[in-house]
Amino acid sequence: MGWRIVLKIRRLFGKSAALCAALLLAFPIVAADSETVNNLFEAALQSIYPPPATPPEVAEAICLQCKGTGQVRSRFQNKATPAPQKQTSRYQTRLDKSKDFMVPCNECKGQKRYLRKLTLKERLERFHACRRQYDLEHAKLCHLPFGQAYVALGQLDALDPETFARLAAQFPGLCETCHGFAALPCERCDSFGRIEKTNQDQDDVLPDVRIEVCTTCDGKGEKPCKRCDGSGLLKRCRRCKGTGIARKAATKKRPETLERCRSCEGMCRR
Ligand SMILES: [Zn+2]
Ligand SMILES: [Zn+2]
Ligand SMILES: [Zn+2]
Ligand SMILES: [Zn+2]
Repeated sequence: MGWRIVLKIRRLFGKSAALCAALLLAFPIVAADSETVNNLFEAALQSIYPPPATPPEVAEAICLQCKGTGQVRSRFQNKATPAPQKQTSRYQTRLDKSKDFMVPCNECKGQKRYLRKLTLKERLERFHACRRQYDLEHAKLCHLPFGQAYVALGQLDALDPETFARLAAQFPGLCETCHGFAALPCERCDSFGRIEKTNQDQDDVLPDVRIEVCTTCDGKGEKPCKRCDGSGLLKRCRRCKGTGIARKAATKKRPETLERCRSCEGMCRR
């Protein structure tokens, strides 16, 4: 098809015109405009291996109230139980404990597992499992980390600093302490928000157990991450103010040039 056009041009306009047409056919000229920059960005985006999706907040999981046994003490039916009054007679305590039999757990309706909001600890565990798999996969292929993602070796080397920074902003590095969750699990209650208290001061077989709201985290099961101030991300690079770009001032010989910030390597955060 192309050659027929060239032959037609030769017949109409002569040899030199035909040569130009042939060259144009072989090497189409690409204009460098905003569309090209966008295409450049899109093409670079295609070369990124995005991180796995964050684990869901709600999922089927083991019941925390009965620890997956499906049964609880009759007294635990209603989450937090008030502290027993101190001046109960021994007889009264015995009577209370005699009522302490096992019943189906009201939280999971005796199902052991049910659909519920996961605790931060559980979400972190799921996150790390996904992430380990993802890291391993890309380490095997010798891919380089790019923020929270990966990229094949040398893929972005030729990219101009501005497009590189725009791309880096799409995959900001995660805070190394909270891994993007902006909070840490409460250690006292294991992220459950409630704790079991046992008083075994009596000679009874069944210890006196009650469930209380964790006072360390106020029942939330988590505490805010101080390292990232709740952003869940690495801090913005101070040297380039989070732009990822270093400007080299113009001299008499050459105009101003842009470079990737050396401190954050153009990633905007570090
Ligand atoms: Zn249960
Ligand atoms: Zn953090
Ligand atoms: Zn707690
Ligand atoms: Zn920087």
